[in-house]
Amino acid sequence: MVNIQGFVFGQKVICHRGFWDTPGSAQNSIAALVKADSIGAFGSEFDVWMTADGELVVNHDRVYKGVNMETSTFEQVRAIRLDNGEKLPTLDEYLTKGKELKIRLVLEMKSLSDFNREDECVAKIVRKLKHYGLLDRTDIIAFSINACLAFKKLLPDSNIYYLDGDYTPKKVKNLGLKGIDYHQNALRKEHPEWVKEAKDLGVEINVWTVDDSEALQYFINQGVDYITTNNPVELQKLLKK
Ligand code: MG
Repeated sequence: MVNIQGFVFGQKVICHRGFWDTPGSAQNSIAALVKADSIGAFGSEFDVWMTADGELVVNHDRVYKGVNMETSTFEQVRAIRLDNGEKLPTLDEYLTKGKELKIRLVLEMKSLSDFNREDECVAKIVRKLKHYGLLDRTDIIAFSINACLAFKKLLPDSNIYYLDGDYTPKKVKNLGLKGIDYHQNALRKEHPEWVKEAKDLGVEINVWTVDDSEALQYFINQGVDYITTNNPVELQKLLKK
């Protein structure tokens, strides 16, 4: 990464589900957030579900260790231990820890079973981010366009990125979103022309989940804005070359 007069050229490293592939960590654990911060990554991504009784928890899988995140109660979800021994975190715990750190938070809201529940979840997340004073240090990502637009309505100035890979950069811009956050196949195999289109339109580009050195180098060369990876140390090494 080259730094000239305060301008940083190069991709921003986003740890996918935190920096979890390291001793003592686990995907979407508090430890993974702390470890992502400790290696100086730009951001740490994590996934948020809303339980049947309306509590916000941090986890990726819809069904994790036999428990469905959306149809189970908070008590049932909270009883789960992650592989590093931590209790499955609440969003409150995640944001409390995030507040102590410097790293940018990349909050993914998972798609829920209906739009009413999604709207309720969006409103709750926004309240939490305001409560912790973390709006300015959080980017929001979602596969659900309904959720993206609900966030946009409540937070017109926030950075909101669409994940699903089926909208052109132009369409995403017209919806008022900050950028695209697409699977690497969408930007490399299916629509390589979208990288230029997005840049020309000022639509930011994040790409997921890029882990092997060849693919990391490909997206470095493409000049995307962010790379989301399970392999942040390798990406940092490539960026220093
Ligand atoms: Mg995610």
